[in-house]
Amino acid sequence: MTPGKAGSVRLIDAPQPNASAGQVLLRTSKIGICGTDLEIIQGEYGEAPLGSEYLIFGHECLATVEDAPNNSAGVRKGDLVVPTVRRPDSCLNCQSGESDMCLTGQYKEHGIKGLHGFCSEYSLSDLNYLVPVPAELSDVAVLLEPASVAEKGVFQSFKIQERMMWKPTKALVLGTGPVGLLTVLLLKLRGLDVTAVATRPKDSLKARTVEKIGGTYVNANDQPITSLGKFDLIMEETGVASLAAEAQGLLNNNGVLCLLGIYRPNLATQDIGHSYDDIVLGNKITFGSVNANKRYFLSGIQDFRIIQQKFPGVLNSMFTRRVGPSDYSQAYNPTKDDIKSVIDFDLP
Ligand SMILES: [Zn+2]
Repeated sequence: MTPGKAGSVRLIDAPQPNASAGQVLLRTSKIGICGTDLEIIQGEYGEAPLGSEYLIFGHECLATVEDAPNNSAGVRKGDLVVPTVRRPDSCLNCQSGESDMCLTGQYKEHGIKGLHGFCSEYSLSDLNYLVPVPAELSDVAVLLEPASVAEKGVFQSFKIQERMMWKPTKALVLGTGPVGLLTVLLLKLRGLDVTAVATRPKDSLKARTVEKIGGTYVNANDQPITSLGKFDLIMEETGVASLAAEAQGLLNNNGVLCLLGIYRPNLATQDIGHSYDDIVLGNKITFGSVNANKRYFLSGIQDFRIIQQKFPGVLNSMFTRRVGPSDYSQAYNPTKDDIKSVIDFDLP
């Protein structure tokens, strides 16, 4: 599509890219679609590579290495991989393997900001940003990128809480999109009692998925979140600012609220004096988390192995739409009950 131009998404014949030193040529197998793609389509976001008038989408990817230079990273032709999304700039964090903690905002992101994505038969990636995928996870590994976002949020929450003795028991997840459901899974693996809140009915696939994992699903249209009691850990993934503000009041003493949404301007009036007092008197923390570096993709692989054993079929059930590249427009028009749409390059 042409970034900034709503509705300019189209199928084109692009030249096959050539890998230069340090790069690999990837043959795409599957591409997952997420809210960021839809925002780029609406013209709200996205930046083409320098010198290109279009941006190729696709940052959630599973691919096979088609061609790799001799390298010490152990990347070989035929490897099944997930490429990470963000590429570093020269800042301290980026140069320390933490491009997700970039200080300047000058990073690039495949399929989003300044680099073509992977939603084409062939694409390029720096060979140092590939995550090897074991064959037994090949059918679910396209979920690894959204899982890495959940991994980072959960890891950072627990890391921050090393500031004290902390034994969380109750967690709340706001939002049951792919990242929300993956967060419920990660928190169940850590032994927490998890409640997930969204606005779909109790018999929806999202609600049933939460219950299948052993969580409690609440439809916010039936029950206000203020009636749910208090929580040690809250993961806010809806991007609804008023809900994020409300969630802070649901924290137990010493609790932590992790914000993972993208929030719109909202000039709500609220009693911020009471809100800050609550934070101080309860030693509470609210923090933000975005993107994920390679470390979180690797922990995602480990957790996927455990999830496949403990909750067989759950990751697979999240794929609600699978189309070939020629039917791409269906993938970019999800319904409210879709969880994850995938463009499968093995289909026409
Ligand atoms: Zn940086």
